[in-house]
Amino acid sequence: MPRPVTEPIYLSTTYRRNPDGSYDDGYIYSRADNPNRRTLEKQLAELEGGETAYAFSSGMAAIQAMFLALKTGDHILIPDDAYYNVRLLLDEVMTQWGLQHSIVDMSDTAAIRAACRPATKLIWLETPSNPQLKLTDISAVVDIAGSVGAKVAVDNTWPTPIHQRPLDLGADFVVHSSTKYFGGHSDVLGGALVAKVNDQMAEKIGRIQHVGGAVPSPMDCYLVSRGLQTLGLRVRRQSATAGELATYLYGHPEIEDVRYPGLESHPQHALARIQMKDGFGAMLSVLVKGDGQRAREVANTLNHFTLATSLGGVESLVEHRRSVEGPGSLTPDNLLRLSIGIEPVDTLIADWQHALKG
Ligand SMILES: *Cc1c(COP(=O)(O)O)cnc(C)c1O
Repeated sequence: MPRPVTEPIYLSTTYRRNPDGSYDDGYIYSRADNPNRRTLEKQLAELEGGETAYAFSSGMAAIQAMFLALKTGDHILIPDDAYYNVRLLLDEVMTQWGLQHSIVDMSDTAAIRAACRPATKLIWLETPSNPQLKLTDISAVVDIAGSVGAKVAVDNTWPTPIHQRPLDLGADFVVHSSTKYFGGHSDVLGGALVAKVNDQMAEKIGRIQHVGGAVPSPMDCYLVSRGLQTLGLRVRRQSATAGELATYLYGHPEIEDVRYPGLESHPQHALARIQMKDGFGAMLSVLVKGDGQRAREVANTLNHFTLATSLGGVESLVEHRRSVEGPGSLTPDNLLRLSIGIEPVDTLIADWQHALKG
């Protein structure tokens, strides 16, 4: 037998049974388990410091599994600027199943406490938030949740475990869109859910993954695993570049404001310094002086930033967020959301210099 350094991709959906009926290593059928998925789930649990991890076919599938693990009549709190599709999932699908939710400004601890009800079973956080880059004090929310008997789940897609480890701060669950920094190359869709302890709710999520079947393919597991091997290198570089670009843009006369937790001007910079480590992430939002039309002109003039949605890849992207979110969006019209890639910082700064002149 060859002895590969890199794990082969196991495409087989089914596994040979032994004469006595047993299965080697517990592999039976690939919806239930697959070697590439097991490898990925082990990496995910280690990265976030949890006991158990589950890989899903998308970030939204992981988020839905979390919601499905709750019961009819349960109430959850979500941020006022939650990832857009989380809001749609609750409004259009989960409400039908009797899951209730309230929308809260998660940068306001008193408002979070006031929004809790006896039925509140989950507090859902995204910090830094999308696209306003607001922060939530995870430890403070963990205290509130403990006093009302709710669990805390954090969507850690943006900061990644390189900059923020919510389970270490007392959160119960971490969710990821692996499509973003974990995959890292804009070529694989995936999701992850990591549980701090393998309790009843974690087991239920495992059943939902196994029985519900929103599992990633072996190839997708392989791609996310491969992406994770360079996560630290990519993200540290991307965040350092984001910090430099944020500083450059903040001082520019054509820019109204820059939302980036690493800037001293960020209203929660002090919290960012405590809660995040080794940098502040590679996402920033830029408010261009003028109206939405002017912001879109600037976005169209950039050469090295591709005009596209999504984030976390090695290439820099720019997006006029309000037009993506559509009617009802609370995002300012002159806001451009940037996902910073691994290009040299000088190239990206020169690109903005040129676009803001033009
Ligand atoms: C992209 C994203 C999601 C959804 O993940 P998919 O992989 O697209 O299903 C959830 N949360 C955040 C913060 C995201 O950026």
